Amino acid sequence: MAAFRTRLAPSPTGSMHLGNARTFLITWWLARQAGGEVLLRLEDLDRARVKPGLVERVIEDLRWLGLDWDEGPILQSERVALYEAALRSLIEGGHCYPCVCSRKEIRAAVNAPHAEDEESTYPGTCRGRFASWEEARAFKGRPPAWRFRVPAGEIAFDDRFLGRVALDPAQAGGDFVVRSVDGAFAYQLAVTVDDAAMGINEVVRGDDLVASTPRQLLLYRTLGLAPPRFTHLPLVLDECGARMAKRKGDTEIAFLRTRGIDPREVIALLARCSGFPEAPAALSAAALVERFDLARVPREAVRFSPLPWSQTC
Ligand code: GLU
Repeated sequence: MAAFRTRLAPSPTGSMHLGNARTFLITWWLARQAGGEVLLRLEDLDRARVKPGLVERVIEDLRWLGLDWDEGPILQSERVALYEAALRSLIEGGHCYPCVCSRKEIRAAVNAPHAEDEESTYPGTCRGRFASWEEARAFKGRPPAWRFRVPAGEIAFDDRFLGRVALDPAQAGGDFVVRSVDGAFAYQLAVTVDDAAMGINEVVRGDDLVASTPRQLLLYRTLGLAPPRFTHLPLVLDECGARMAKRKGDTEIAFLRTRGIDPREVIALLARCSGFPEAPAALSAAALVERFDLARVPREAVRFSPLPWSQTC
């Protein structure tokens, strides 16, 4: 197995934007520089948001940018038996419990009616409440979710970019869902099971996921799996300071691709905010493999100056 084995893990739930592209580009530079292996995994478990054609579009976007991979594409939707087995082992070990709480009930219980769901900490309402999944189902009249029981205490890890990170997932989020009421396996479980099963030893992703890492480390530990090393990169904001994911149109790779923009101009733009401020107007992803240096990547979220093909804010 390669010393550096990583994955590109897009969620085909919308258009790939310049922010995702930059994270993938840096992941790819790190892997290729290390002589490592890259796997392409499509995280398509959110059936409500994965629209027909989006998987193909993401693949086309990556190819257009000049990125390649050694294995895949692998679809998570074809791997549910693995997630099922992991969940079963968590349940048998007493690490999960059925939960009947709706989002509304959780918001009311934590007395934070305006809090975003992901920001509020689950108050533990269903911890120890039901003896079985069947009992929870009968109580609510519909299938319950499964939640992972988060032990108290900090979880620390050494991030290749952020340095030492210590977070207490019991305080930040609390017991988290591993299988939702509609039967879908949650990101935290699927990503952990997959990264371990695929022998991924380097995970590079946006720092919007840094709070997920302690949860995933708990799953690694509980399932007896070896965790990878993590590298969390700052996000990219548009010239108005908004997250790329919030914006449509000129920051979407498919938009640029179908407008006939030269992908080498896009790579140059991404290189300029990734430690190469002197990058020329156009260059290929492959051109910078040797010279890429993680230490030169800006520590804070980067904000694009108006894009050459920009629309107004
Ligand atoms: N699929 C996730 C995303 O597109 C990335 C998950 C990960 O890298 O762990 O944000």
